[in-house]
Amino acid sequence: MKHRNFKTVPKIIFGRGCFAQLEDVVDEQRLSDSDFAVFLVDEIHKDKPLANELPNMPQDQIIWLDVTDEPKTKYVDALTEQVQAFAKANNQGNNPVSVVGIGGGSSLDIGKAVALLLTNEGGSASYQGWDLIQNPAVHHVGIPTISGTGAEASRTTVLTGPDKKLGMNSDYTVFDQIMLDPNLISGVPADQWFYTGMDCYIHNVEALNGTYINEFARAFGEKSIDLCNQVFLEDHEDADEKLMMASYMGGQSIAYSQVGACHALSYGLSYVLGFHHGIGNCIVFNVLDDYYPEGVATFRKMMEKHNITLPTGVCANVTEAQMNKMIQVSSGLAPLWDNVYGPDWKEKVTPELLRSLFSKM
Ligand code: NAD
Ligand code: ZN
Repeated sequence: MKHRNFKTVPKIIFGRGCFAQLEDVVDEQRLSDSDFAVFLVDEIHKDKPLANELPNMPQDQIIWLDVTDEPKTKYVDALTEQVQAFAKANNQGNNPVSVVGIGGGSSLDIGKAVALLLTNEGGSASYQGWDLIQNPAVHHVGIPTISGTGAEASRTTVLTGPDKKLGMNSDYTVFDQIMLDPNLISGVPADQWFYTGMDCYIHNVEALNGTYINEFARAFGEKSIDLCNQVFLEDHEDADEKLMMASYMGGQSIAYSQVGACHALSYGLSYVLGFHHGIGNCIVFNVLDDYYPEGVATFRKMMEKHNITLPTGVCANVTEAQMNKMIQVSSGLAPLWDNVYGPDWKEKVTPELLRSLFSKM
């Protein structure tokens, strides 16, 4: 058995107010006066204090991101061209010295993707997969403003392409620097806070109950799930700090194990019905009592405490073709099912089983 050589984020700044240090982080990359940085920022922050705290210099580029849809290959290609056109017009066509992604999982993934595409030609769809990236990315920084996905820690950037939803997975994808400032996640609307936070909770339940679990992943997953329990079942003044660390550690846990049934089904559901990752996971997880009885029971307590009502009957009106597509996408996620059942998963994960689960959602 070959063990994974785990590339992690080499530099991390954590703590309330640490966003102010972004100036130092970016300046460290500037070698000459014309060197420029790119700030890719979720447009939700355009009219918020954060917009005035960006340490941009006159030669820098700020792009406000539209994350109405989860990132598409076409969108990140267009953004990359926008950066290249800016560089050509202002900076002799050189690449930026740093790409800073600020926002939720969508914006972090866009930041990683653009940093990769600036040094790897041919468009993002051609790199959806594992270790297809050839060249190191431009220096890239990730700053979450909502917590749960673990995108700040992972070696992937999830993109919806012309024919698949799949990440650009590579060691080069990993951020060079992340900045975890709990101040930045304080204004998130309650529903979105819950859905994205549950992504983290579900990562841990799936990792800890999977066949891939090992002491390394358990060490992160157990602490992360403990923090989730504190955040979503109790009341703590420092809940933002706790959730931020839970998200990062959940990301570390699944990086050295794997997610499971919820994510496999959720990818199928989202691909066909367009649900965003967080809420899609919640809809799926709520029918997985047979897989994760304890986790689902606790999840329902969390929903109750935060008055969350999930959509129901979401598959009631899907066509036969849509149902088949959901089944196809879900059953295609071999490592996830392998993590759930072990190597003989194919005998267990039948179209009938998946259909019955989707029909309950
Ligand atoms: P998101 O980035 O899609 O943002 C969700 C909503 O929250 C958006 O409307 C956004 O504008 C808003 N928001 C963000 N910060 C806010 C703030 N401070 N105040 C108010 N509103 C704020 O949500 P997400 O759940 O963090 O990310 C989901 C995405 O992450 C999906 O595209 C998914 O595929 C991806 N993902 C990636 C990984 C990875 O390892 N790369 C892992 C899991 C999920
Ligand atoms: Zn997830």
